Amino acid sequence: MKRTLTALVLIVLILLTACQSTGKNGSDNLQGKPWVNSNIYDNWPSERPALEENFELHVNYDRYMEAKEKGIKKDNPLSQASNAMAEAVRSLIADTSKSTVELELMRAYYKLFADEEQRNAQGNEPLLLYTRMVSNATTLEELSEEVRKGLLFGDAFAEFAVDKTSSDTTHYGVWVESVLPFRSRLKGDFSDENIARVRERLTNLMILAGYTEEETAQALDLMESYEVLADKISQEYYEKTGVTGEDAVPMTLDEIKDFCTPLYDQLIGLGYWSAEGLPVMYDIYDAGLFYAIGQMYIPDNLEIIKSIYNVSMASYAKQFLDIPNFAEMYDFESFEDFDIDLYSFQFVYQSLASAVDQTYLEFVFPKGVRQTITDLTVDYIEAMRARLENTTWLTDVTKARALDKVDKMLYIVVYPDYWIDYSELLELVAEHDQFLLDAVLCRDDFYRGYMTSLLGHYFDRTDWVYLQANSIVANAYYKYALNVITILAGILFENRYFDTSIETIMASIGTIIGHEITHGFDTTGCKFNEMGDPEIWWTDEDYKLFNEKAARIADALSQIEPLDGYNVNGEFVVGETIADLGGLVLTLDLAKKYPDFDYDLFFRTFMNNFYEIMPDAETAMDNYIGDNHTADYIRANFNVQMMDEFYETYPQVVEGTTMYRAPEDRLSVW
Ligand SMILES: [Zn+2]
Repeated sequence: MKRTLTALVLIVLILLTACQSTGKNGSDNLQGKPWVNSNIYDNWPSERPALEENFELHVNYDRYMEAKEKGIKKDNPLSQASNAMAEAVRSLIADTSKSTVELELMRAYYKLFADEEQRNAQGNEPLLLYTRMVSNATTLEELSEEVRKGLLFGDAFAEFAVDKTSSDTTHYGVWVESVLPFRSRLKGDFSDENIARVRERLTNLMILAGYTEEETAQALDLMESYEVLADKISQEYYEKTGVTGEDAVPMTLDEIKDFCTPLYDQLIGLGYWSAEGLPVMYDIYDAGLFYAIGQMYIPDNLEIIKSIYNVSMASYAKQFLDIPNFAEMYDFESFEDFDIDLYSFQFVYQSLASAVDQTYLEFVFPKGVRQTITDLTVDYIEAMRARLENTTWLTDVTKARALDKVDKMLYIVVYPDYWIDYSELLELVAEHDQFLLDAVLCRDDFYRGYMTSLLGHYFDRTDWVYLQANSIVANAYYKYALNVITILAGILFENRYFDTSIETIMASIGTIIGHEITHGFDTTGCKFNEMGDPEIWWTDEDYKLFNEKAARIADALSQIEPLDGYNVNGEFVVGETIADLGGLVLTLDLAKKYPDFDYDLFFRTFMNNFYEIMPDAETAMDNYIGDNHTADYIRANFNVQMMDEFYETYPQVVEGTTMYRAPEDRLSVW
């Protein structure tokens, strides 16, 4: 489930991976074992390896040596690029000679976040203004009224996302998932240790919300037994109805009103209904629990219910109160290294992503690039279409579905067609500049207001806000559930894509576009249809053939042993590899349009995408586990090995050299 609200999470400015991956442990010489540990600092051979032995290292060798000289032990062009873009925006915020709505807004939030003195002086007062509203309620009706006014915040009983729903995939509806203080924090681990840890955390939050220690202990006991009972009632519900917690139970707002009052109150208060009176569907997950919460909404439980609201508000507000509270959330070892400027900027970066994007694109990003990349994307989609059309192993039935899927594939490229207008938020912040928390809640209302205004309307697969696509992240991706590819401005870094050479553009960005398109037809993409809804759209016979092709690639990957006794998990990385191979194949198809295409330049530039340094085998391994891309250097070499054009370009790659694969072993699904 996606969250519509942006929570502040500490980031090293970029973590997403579209094209990045990792490395591995092992021997420090390359002989006999191809491409072992190429990306690990200090593990490079003293001389450049021959092209036919390790193409990636051969091409990127000088860059690795340069890094070695400088002592750069960890390097990844994507994270580097993202950091550089973020830095550029940071200096624009500091440059007061420039003024736009977005810059002023970022400055206002920056100032509130960075004002340590003011925040520390206020302590938990900004939160108490809200928890008092709850504490003062003397009946359930009064409490419900407060919640329905929309003045409270946090995920007391539920969290929500605006999305297409199981019963209506053509309109925006609401996803609802349950939240309860213990249950959501315990995450299924009921060991004494974990319970004690969660209890301690909840104790701190209750005290923050204004409860005394005595009240807190009592409230937590009550909350705990409340949750035990809720669990019991929910099990009975599941047994009676046959649904499970993972099923989405479709409901209307009216049905929810009778089913679970606090859920209804929250939906009303937060605006998850259509102000235009359009019908909206809700997918209720954990329906049993909501049933229980509804059944337990009785006067006897008033105090428990109040404390659930308060603990949830405290949990959200904690990071926006005084600095010790903020720091505690992130387990800082000491305040000595605490850099309020850095955190303030990260807060701005995450809170106002679209303003950050807009600023970067307006002041820094070269004009005209969007058109170039859009044209290129259209070319690649056409190339995929042609390839599918010419595929000989698909029956007409499956082929027609595949073509329909590529025809309905949408793309969002570089930056949105329209930007969020922040002027209203800027005015609101000016009125709420006393407490950071209030300003944050204004921001949340603003974004939520955008999302809830979509409810009941036709689902738009390319809405940037819905997609939470931030332009200046160095990434690109395909969304299976939407059949949409996203190529962000951030991935066009280093200006190398604006080079006039078609080889450079295609090697750098073209292969990535092709990669994302091919995801629509990889081992996961084959299970989602042209609108992104789950469906295996293949005939049995074609599906079997597809899986056989994928299995051959997985097998070939599994034979790579970058570490003694440890092989690549072929099955795990096969989806990304199919996409990689598709990216190359489509590029080489398009290259045929250029009679003087310089294949050497193309292949060498392509290798630059996979330059990456890991400080040591351990770090590489940590990255490697859980990444469904193979290590970059393996990715690079494995991909080009599968292309006939590689052998035509480099006749020295012959049988007996490490880069060689026999023609019958050159694999690609598409
Ligand atoms: Zn991918």
